[in-house]
Amino acid sequence: MPTDVFLNREGWTVEHVDDPATRVSEYGEHSEFRNHKDGVAIKPENVILINEDLPGPDRLEMEIHEMLHVLDWDRPEDQIHARAEELAAALWRLGWRPRKRVRQ
Ligand SMILES: [Zn+2]
Repeated sequence: MPTDVFLNREGWTVEHVDDPATRVSEYGEHSEFRNHKDGVAIKPENVILINEDLPGPDRLEMEIHEMLHVLDWDRPEDQIHARAEELAAALWRLGWRPRKRVRQ
């Protein structure tokens, strides 16, 4: 189920999907992407797609990773990766867990 969030004071939709890398092809040639096998941020459509099959800790990291891209679009990939990895590990230790999904 898509979830609307605010990032950089803009509305974004986060959706967990079967295959984010394939879904990217549905967007236009004028779209910009920060994409990976398991997650992608797309503007100006303001959509984040996350692989729905990631195990909990990886899903948390990918969600943080794509949101960090949105907050700081031009920051280099290695810095985004390192920050997301640390934040996800810290939040996981603090007890944050993904909401359980109900499969259709
Ligand atoms: Zn990235």
